[in-house]
Amino acid sequence: MSFELPKLDYAYDALEPYFDAKTMEIHHSKHHKAYTDNFNKAIAGTDAENKTAEEIFANVSKYSAAVRNHGGGFYNHNLFWKNLSPNGGGKPKGELLAAIEKQFGSFEEFKSQFSAAAATQFGSGWAWLIKSGDTLKVVSTSNQDNPIMDIAKDKGEILLVLDVWEHSYYLKFQNRRPDYITTFWEVVNWDEVERRFKG
Ligand code: MN
Repeated sequence: MSFELPKLDYAYDALEPYFDAKTMEIHHSKHHKAYTDNFNKAIAGTDAENKTAEEIFANVSKYSAAVRNHGGGFYNHNLFWKNLSPNGGGKPKGELLAAIEKQFGSFEEFKSQFSAAAATQFGSGWAWLIKSGDTLKVVSTSNQDNPIMDIAKDKGEILLVLDVWEHSYYLKFQNRRPDYITTFWEVVNWDEVERRFKG
């Protein structure tokens, strides 16, 4: 069994004028493809070949650094593309909005905490909104780690994810990571976040 690079649900230029077509194309067809190919190479001939990514991550500390890094890169980007939409932006609705307001006080306060986690993640990594029981939490991880890996400090079900590796913004925003984060909110696919929240 091998993992496959997923097709996007939208064209590379569909998130313009927020996320630019060139960055989307390189990010998906080069970076994500390389993670996928290298993940498959890293698991070839090992017992991980017959496991799901989630099963591998639950015991990722027992695998090689290549499995952890490229497996995370494969999986995290799958989530990230689904979590974006040309019809995105705005606010979540219903139970998800209520849960965010209950946890963080307001949607604006949640956005502010998530944006700060994304902006202050030192070096390459990701920002996440996760759910553990009835608790929502904003966390960040380094490199390609994620909150469903056994090595994660903060574990939970993943609801919302933002890539803050330089490759995700440098062509358009150069060093201005905060501008990229502000733009992200215009393309968040809240329907997908809600689907994950309801599990
Ligand atoms: Mn990336």
